[in-house]
Amino acid sequence: MLSVRHLTKTYPNGKKGLQDVSFTAAPGTVTAVIGPSGAGKTTLLRSLNRLITPEQGTVTLGDQELRGADAQALRQARRQIGMIFQDYNLIEPLSALENVLQGCLGQKRLLPGVLGLYTKAETSHALALLDEVGLRAYAAQKTRDLSGGQKQRVGIARALMQDPKVLLCDEPIASLDPQSTRTVMTIIADLAKARNLIVVMNLHQVGIAREFADHIVGVNAGRIVFDDNAAALTELA
Ligand code: ADP
Ligand code: ADP
Repeated sequence: MLSVRHLTKTYPNGKKGLQDVSFTAAPGTVTAVIGPSGAGKTTLLRSLNRLITPEQGTVTLGDQELRGADAQALRQARRQIGMIFQDYNLIEPLSALENVLQGCLGQKRLLPGVLGLYTKAETSHALALLDEVGLRAYAAQKTRDLSGGQKQRVGIARALMQDPKVLLCDEPIASLDPQSTRTVMTIIADLAKARNLIVVMNLHQVGIAREFADHIVGVNAGRIVFDDNAAALTELA
């Protein structure tokens, strides 16, 4: 279980990013965080892996609290958290396979992307992940030549390289057409179940959240305004 308790983040300019935000996200489910622009979604997602340090509140994964105090412990905790991004954050001149291999954190690679520097086990793991997202045939393709949906699937495979317990998705479909949106959301929802992953995803499309998420957390002006299963929102809407 990922447990968020009483998170409060005030930016240096006095803007309240989050105010007393609490919720939990369960393994094997997709939690969609929805809300208008400026609601605090990005601040919340970044607080979950401590890219942002909230001044109050805790984030715990299982029985482990994620904190910034001990850099070593934080690194260890972050290894359990994979991330995907709206604009994919791929290294475009590299192949799909090389991008997935970037998910091998931990060791510093002098020449990231040179296949010879990865072990056979890492390479076959990366290929298996590309297979899992339906891109095995595109392993050698430069990611700049892939469609948006394919790029996001490479991003998902990269995020899974460390076998994370949590997958954080920052507006993963905001740059995608409706067809790719459905493909990517289906893959993420299936992965959550197949791998017992805790998925937390920022979305601004309520319809997509209702259709693909199990649990919806609504935020507005830094506060939780809804926290229930997706079916409950359907009845209200
Ligand atoms: P999104 O809605 O996709 O999060 P934003 O335009 O709100 O995009 O934010 C883009 C970036 O600008 C983020 O890194 C965010 O933290 C930062 N940002 C947003 N609002 C402010 C602000 N008032 N002052 C400084 N940085 C901001
Ligand atoms: P969302 O992702 O829902 O669009 P954000 O988390 O980006 O919302 O922003 C929440 C609030 O915090 C907004 O009022 C935004 O302007 C403010 N904010 C975000 N990032 C920064 C920042 N780096 N500096 C100052 N204010 C920020």
